[in-house]
Amino acid sequence: IKFNNEDIVTLKQLGSGNSGSVSKILHIPTQKTMAKKIIQIESKTIIQNQIIRELKILHECQSPYIIEFYGAFINTNNTVVICMEYCNCGSLDKILPFCEYHRFPLNVLKKLSFSILSGLTYLYDTHKIIHRDIKPSNVLMTHKGEFKLCDFGVSRELTNSLAMADTFVGTSVYMSPERIQGLTYGIKSDIWSMGLMIIELASGQHVWRNNEEDEEGTINGNGGHNGSFKRDNGPEGILDLLQRIVNEQPPTLTEKIQPITRIPYDPTLCAFIDLCLVKDDTKRRTPFELLKDSAGFLNGVQDGSYDKEIKTWAKGIRKQLKELHQEH
Ligand code: ADP
Ligand code: MG
Repeated sequence: IKFNNEDIVTLKQLGSGNSGSVSKILHIPTQKTMAKKIIQIESKTIIQNQIIRELKILHECQSPYIIEFYGAFINTNNTVVICMEYCNCGSLDKILPFCEYHRFPLNVLKKLSFSILSGLTYLYDTHKIIHRDIKPSNVLMTHKGEFKLCDFGVSRELTNSLAMADTFVGTSVYMSPERIQGLTYGIKSDIWSMGLMIIELASGQHVWRNNEEDEEGTINGNGGHNGSFKRDNGPEGILDLLQRIVNEQPPTLTEKIQPITRIPYDPTLCAFIDLCLVKDDTKRRTPFELLKDSAGFLNGVQDGSYDKEIKTWAKGIRKQLKELHQEH
């Protein structure tokens, strides 16, 4: 499909991050609801052409675990517009506040982890793409309880032009120790990010919380925290946190109890997270290896054993989201 602004009706804003803003749109010629992401890029024509060329690989990324790409174009005001599949339950950070006790249920965490590992394996094996930005806002859910990855590092030129704009744009609390240290950075870095994200979703608490957050470190429902450092935290705060990620013991749920209910975490969940958050990346597993051996955490997911109950759960979330949006 060829895309241009005249064919697009904006329905509502979905959110914005460091790199751009996303809205829900109707594409008139196809009558399809889509998500549209706008990203500010450099004004140099060579770079803009290169970005469009690189984004074309997205047409070949077809997997149930990856957000579908419909097309992209450049605006005259030096923005790139990416049109992609719209996910009607939004991203995990937006779903978390609607979960009981502010935690994702265990079966959902299993399916979610399986889907991310499958998506990462697909991207790497088929296209040699590393995601580079695994975080709750880049994993989306449908009302059927399917999980899909978006915003992966497909275009080197696009990543570069973002990094140029602000040194801390590419910096996030989900970054692996080896990435922070500027050492080899590969597919296993995404596993670190996923492990950290799973801890957050399982506990409802930020892992690397800083002093500005409330005592309990609870992730509040107002959004805002998308894993990126805010400028006003100041460079000291950022560097301090980066140093902690590199120097401290990796986060874990082993021998911890769940807030409110005071029940211990599932042992296979704890073991799985400990496999993801190995600081030495040479000893950390790849997505493929974790799919093969997840310390028992992913047993039964592939057979679809949990699909029915997850679908029911996702429907419930969808209902709550709808009610919320009607109020406002
Ligand atoms: P970030 O990922 O840093 O939050 P983005 O600009 O990538 O910033 O996205 C902004 C928000 O838009 C996300 O938090 C997510 O909730 C929402 N979003 C992004 N892509 C989609 C999509 N394809 N379908 C539905 N919601 C989306
Ligand atoms: Mg995003």
